[in-house]
Amino acid sequence: MADFDGLSDALNLRKAQSLYRSRRLLTSAQQPQQQIDGKDVISFCSNDYLGLANHPKVKEAFTKAVELYGVGSGASHLVNGHSALHHELELTLAEFTGRDRAVLFSTGFMANMGSITALVGRGDAVLQDKWNHASLIDAGLASAAKFKRYQHCDLASLERQLLSCSDAGRTLIVTDSVFSMDGDIAPLAELADLADAHNACLMIDDAHGFGVLGTTGAGASEQFQLSQDRLPVLMGTLGKACGTFGAFVAGSEELVETLIQHARSYIYTTALPPAVAAASLASIELIQTEGWRRDRLQQLISQLRAGIERIGFPLMESGTPIQPVLIGDAELALKISGKLEENGLLVTAIRPPTVPDGTSRLRITLSAEHTEAQVGRLLSVLGDVYDQLSTQEREQLSQARTKLLV
Ligand SMILES: *Cc1c(COP(=O)(O)O)cnc(C)c1O
Repeated sequence: MADFDGLSDALNLRKAQSLYRSRRLLTSAQQPQQQIDGKDVISFCSNDYLGLANHPKVKEAFTKAVELYGVGSGASHLVNGHSALHHELELTLAEFTGRDRAVLFSTGFMANMGSITALVGRGDAVLQDKWNHASLIDAGLASAAKFKRYQHCDLASLERQLLSCSDAGRTLIVTDSVFSMDGDIAPLAELADLADAHNACLMIDDAHGFGVLGTTGAGASEQFQLSQDRLPVLMGTLGKACGTFGAFVAGSEELVETLIQHARSYIYTTALPPAVAAASLASIELIQTEGWRRDRLQQLISQLRAGIERIGFPLMESGTPIQPVLIGDAELALKISGKLEENGLLVTAIRPPTVPDGTSRLRITLSAEHTEAQVGRLLSVLGDVYDQLSTQEREQLSQARTKLLV
């Protein structure tokens, strides 16, 4: 095929801008110590925050379920793919999050796409935090509702938009609970108040909160004590802290039935393998019973933050396992990530379009399975990298630091 409308030019441009992405080959389980592209590394970029993806009990639950149910679910939930294991997981998720019901989706992307397009359409409005996850933004655009993005975590900006949408039918406010590239947490109680005052409905995407936030790990709704009335649409994923795969939306009977009837990404897709649901059930039990995993994460977060501040890198404000170091320039972010990798440490450089121009960063994530020594090693290499930066590169970092203050 001849070059299709300049695809190769566009790819080359991306390379020239340090924005080209490529995949690495993982040849071990998802855990801090792993083998990638044939090299042994300590990974600081997984979302397996509690270290459950490779947990023996989770694996055992998966294997046992495979014996009983086989591998593929064979059909969508509405045909004959809805197994007793899927059902049990839905009941468990509803109880854990303090909701009447929950419904499973095959992925978080699909949960967001299906829910938002089922809940709002022509004549309605959907208002989203500017930094929301791509799946929420795409769902808003696909919904045919009036779509607006408010400034990040800015209640005044949201309120202006609520006033400008007062003629809408339904109004849905949507936010990440924990922002995936920033690690900060949305002002959920205030958002619930605003939604209430403007007769709007609040939806959160708790992909990075579920398992991590709240005393028992039930997520943002537990941490902020937001009941189903205050927070009617609670979406969470199972591929991050839960260590498995899939997603759910929890809320009222009417909400869940509406999604089962109308969410196209629920209806027209194959159900998750039942064994994955069984593995999630085992993970949830660990989330609930092994509170030490969350305590351990907090200790590692403190160790990392204190160390990075001592070195002098601009560290973004975050109390979650997502700890971004703001670098600014995409090329410099790549260079530092490359230096870390030469030293056996895997930290991804997050660049536009995932984050705004000029805010490229190293996204360090921690897991309860990291050791203090592994975090110490990361800090020691980061210190060496910092010492070797040129004057001009240090200048770039101090410019990045000024962005932290606005
Ligand atoms: C990862 C993520 C998703 C997508 O979930 P998947 O199950 O991976 O499709 C949705 N929202 C946020 C905020 C995420 O971080």
